[in-house]
Amino acid sequence: MPELVYRHKTGLYVNLTNRCPTACVFCIKNEWKMFYRGSDLNLDGAEPEAGAFTGLIKDAWLQKSFDELVFCGYGEPTMRLETLIKIARAVKTGQGLSPVPDELRIRLNTNGLGSLINGRDIVPELKGLIDSVHVSLITVDAVQWLALMRPGPEYARNGFESALTFVRAAARVLPETVVTAIAGIGADLGKIRALAGELGAGIRIRPVLD
Ligand code: SF4
Repeated sequence: MPELVYRHKTGLYVNLTNRCPTACVFCIKNEWKMFYRGSDLNLDGAEPEAGAFTGLIKDAWLQKSFDELVFCGYGEPTMRLETLIKIARAVKTGQGLSPVPDELRIRLNTNGLGSLINGRDIVPELKGLIDSVHVSLITVDAVQWLALMRPGPEYARNGFESALTFVRAAARVLPETVVTAIAGIGADLGKIRALAGELGAGIRIRPVLD
């Protein structure tokens, strides 16, 4: 059975969609057969409404509390921005989700293409709902970004610039913005660290998953 929510470390993760505007070379979803550390994340095309997720979030909390709610699946969460916002708002306003605390930290893990996907600057819509955004920018180089992220044709021309703009805007408005990169895949980590600083974001460098 696919998991709409799954636990990882001290967080509860929300698996909103399997759709992605990119086919990243470092993605492990195919090698891991759509499983992530024991959780089946293959939604098989199903994309339930917000209420299905909020019910599961409440049930999970009642079983065992968690430190943060993280939008992150095998898919880009901002492909379902409206649903993401509905869930985050339900948590932050406590709408029927008691005893889940409304100050629960909410994080979005994204490839930064949400504004391009939705055709508008989405950062203002995240304000007050998303406490932390981790943006998988991966590189400082637009050509290398194309090679590593392998965006669909509609995201190729402006994708990298749009992700940069997203990071810059998020860093101005949200409590925490972190650029993520991966060691050992050819990106210049010194340059990406410097770029994150210039954009006003933090930096997280992770190893390749294998
Ligand atoms: S955005 Fe995430 S799920 Fe989609 S291809 Fe890239 S790594 Fe895989």
